[in-house]
Amino acid sequence: MSTIATCSCNQLHLTIEGELPQTSMCHCVECRRRTGSAFGLQIRVPKRVVSIRGEPHCYTRRGDEGEVRFSFCPECGTTLFWEVSGMPDSWIVAAGALAVAEIPAPTFSVYEDRIPSWLILPDSIETHMA
Ligand SMILES: [Zn+2]
Ligand SMILES: [Zn+2]
Repeated sequence: MSTIATCSCNQLHLTIEGELPQTSMCHCVECRRRTGSAFGLQIRVPKRVVSIRGEPHCYTRRGDEGEVRFSFCPECGTTLFWEVSGMPDSWIVAAGALAVAEIPAPTFSVYEDRIPSWLILPDSIETHMA
């Protein structure tokens, strides 16, 4: 089985082989800015199961756990995938870009001290303040 993830204009296109892992949520300010939404939702997959088509542009910012290098589509601006300096063998992929009937449920959540009061998380979620 394989799953596709694309940017808004389809220029940037990922194929992920195998079962999808569960998602994680991030409530940090940078994820809000990047997504324009209340939180970031993403999956982490080994680079060896991902094939990339199209030309991303990259933006690097310093995060709490090292450098984060984002790959985004220069045509439509979607941030489709990124990598964290401490995890060189993984791509992190924006969960909302996955072409699936249902996005896998989040199993953990970070920066929960910044969560909006109206957002109710599933009971099963493992939580981290930072
Ligand atoms: Zn695009
Ligand atoms: Zn974040």
